[in-house]
Amino acid sequence: MGKASNKYRIGVDLGGTKIEAAALDEAGRMLARHRIATPAGDYRATVSAARDLVLALEAKLGARGSVGVGTPGAISPATGLIKNANSTCLNGRPFDRDLSAALDRPVKIANDADCFALSEAVDGAGAGAPTVFGVILGTGVGGGVVVRGKLLAGPNAIAGEWGHSPLPWPRDDERPGPACFCGKLGCTEVFLSGRGLSEDHEAHTGERLDASEIATHASAGAEASLQRYEERLARALAVVINLIDPHVIVLGGGLGQIERLYRNVPRLWGAYVFSDTVVTKLLPPRYGDASGVRGAAWLWPKGEPE
Ligand SMILES: [Zn+2]
Repeated sequence: MGKASNKYRIGVDLGGTKIEAAALDEAGRMLARHRIATPAGDYRATVSAARDLVLALEAKLGARGSVGVGTPGAISPATGLIKNANSTCLNGRPFDRDLSAALDRPVKIANDADCFALSEAVDGAGAGAPTVFGVILGTGVGGGVVVRGKLLAGPNAIAGEWGHSPLPWPRDDERPGPACFCGKLGCTEVFLSGRGLSEDHEAHTGERLDASEIATHASAGAEASLQRYEERLARALAVVINLIDPHVIVLGGGLGQIERLYRNVPRLWGAYVFSDTVVTKLLPPRYGDASGVRGAAWLWPKGEPE
């Protein structure tokens, strides 16, 4: 197995529609970035495409880098295989091992919410904070926990996956809650995903709007829907604060772009957090779409690889 250079880090963000790769220097500056369409439904072609992106960056930069990958779904600790990915050709495959073989070097892999959290913790909105909880509020709801610059990685590889815990302190009209793809009812994800906001709005108003239309007040009923969303997000984050007491919480994904959340949610969560004061910061992301590749690159922490 070849040794990686410590000159720069390459992050690969494996998405359902595109694969993106970027090289960062030690200070986190982006040296080069490429993206291509994901070969739909073809696993072998996906491995080759990721390899070719890495090699193209290296040809441009004239040296080898370390390689980290952010992927949808999760890596099963039992099998080392990808599970729960919406790009279903990845499921049941050892993508990191196959890319490692194709590139003749070790490859680190983590899910995309973990990469988002890591990117924002290392040199993003949460830079300098000892503990950061990064949340993706988008098609799904995921999260990652970073402690002193490293992802918290437990034996089940699910740290931060609070989207599939029940929405806390449910009201009577939130019980048992809508069905989630995971097989349970009333998961946090079915209330806080983009689709969750859209379906809640429709249930209360009869109007079909997508989350971005609700966020820009496309109808008179939007304000009430946004207030319900904020109150639910406050409850859901209060549980995170009670459990791990992060210094900073960063919201990514499409709904993380709704500016009022950063003003309104911290006004609401105090009613649920078990503390007389709550000084936790709720911050918008610094890197947005680039946090996928950036977090994947930072899977090799500063000081590594040797
Ligand atoms: Zn669920």
